[in-house]
Amino acid sequence: MIDFTLTPEQQEMRDLAHTFAEKEIRPVAPELDEREEFPWELVKKAGAVGLTSFAFPEGLGGLGITDELTNCLITEELSWGCAGVATVLGGTHLASIPILIAGTTEQQERLVKPVVERNGLAALALTEASAGSDVAAMTTTARRDGDEYVLSGAKRFISNGGIADLYVVFAVTDRAQGHRGISAFIVPGDAPGLTGGRKERKLGIRCSHTGEVLLDDVRVLAANRLGEEGSGFRLAMTTLDRSRPMVAAIALGIARAAYEYALEYAKTRIQFGQPIAANQAIQFMLADMATEVQAARLMTWWAAKVTETGRPFLYESSMAKNFASDVAMRVTTDAVQIFGGYGYIREYPVEKLFRDAKITQIYEGTNQIQKIVVANQILK
Ligand SMILES: Cc1cc2nc3c(=O)[nH]c(=O)nc-3n(C[C@H](O)[C@H](O)[C@H](O)COP(=O)(O)OP(=O)(O)OC[C@H]3O[C@@H](n4cnc5c(N)ncnc54)[C@H](O)[C@@H]3O)c2cc1C
Repeated sequence: MIDFTLTPEQQEMRDLAHTFAEKEIRPVAPELDEREEFPWELVKKAGAVGLTSFAFPEGLGGLGITDELTNCLITEELSWGCAGVATVLGGTHLASIPILIAGTTEQQERLVKPVVERNGLAALALTEASAGSDVAAMTTTARRDGDEYVLSGAKRFISNGGIADLYVVFAVTDRAQGHRGISAFIVPGDAPGLTGGRKERKLGIRCSHTGEVLLDDVRVLAANRLGEEGSGFRLAMTTLDRSRPMVAAIALGIARAAYEYALEYAKTRIQFGQPIAANQAIQFMLADMATEVQAARLMTWWAAKVTETGRPFLYESSMAKNFASDVAMRVTTDAVQIFGGYGYIREYPVEKLFRDAKITQIYEGTNQIQKIVVANQILK
């Protein structure tokens, strides 16, 4: 049976995130975007209501939200407030995935709990300058030295990179093994030798911090390794498969916000003596936007539900991410069009949404990579 009714708990979390987005995020988002300023104050406030580390178990100080649909509901609302803020909090959620899949109880207690309890931020450090879509081309190394590993290299384009309290870093432990020679490590943000490099200046999601993570002979205990040596590539792929419904939800939040602003504007903007919404050309645009937002939501919820069934879900999560991010781009483009010249002006909200939408087609695997995943599944 297909039932779109949310449980009282899901509704409660959605309401919590919506209220936070409406009351706390939206009033400050344009300024943060304009100044490319990291939302430290919002992170603190999000922590106070449990939204910084909601995906971690209660025993570690989180809210214990493990069902992907609830994660997506929260993320859609945060992104409806500001996709930059959703990316900041999403960075911690992203890093929580490999930790919850492969982290031992000892690792979670020793390394994760102190960070979650003080509402710290986490980051997943996979990408490098020459290893983006081709993750296996990474050159960061982790050399075993007694009961430690020594990490050396540079990660690029990392959300919360350089400011996080905790990292999941992927590095080569055995070059001869190709992608089977990659391992994952939990690295504390204050580990000697770990520093933040350049902070990127971006088109959109400008209040989020995207930065380099430089690893200069960073020593971590062998006990910080996530899973077996050589299991890092598989863990990275599983993590991204699992996080893609969340990216779809970020895209959905942006698209919904743009549609709502455009609808309101079309009803109130008078040209030729009537609201522009009286024109069928505008009505059709609005009808398509509403339809696409709803379709993106169905794809996102579907992918989220499949992740809970225990069967493989890469097909559904890649489809949802690919589709919802394209919807975000189309809907924000039409929202700018409906606003006319005002849509192009920074004082009005839709130009930010248009800029923010683009990243959803790129991060956590570009849409070309999502299409490769889907094609592989339907052709195998
Ligand atoms: C704002 C931002 C935040 C990010 N956050 C994180 C993060 O937190 N952690 C992290 O590890 N990474 C992060 N990334 C990195 C992001 O995931 C990569 O940028 C992305 O995977 C693409 O890699 P690339 O930029 O090197 O592009 P490339 O891989 O160089 O791709 C360039 C173009 O070629 C296409 N292409 C590549 N290979 C193929 C192929 N086989 N077939 C068809 N087309 C192909 C791509 O689709 C793209 O259009 C972030 C990036 C940005 C911009």
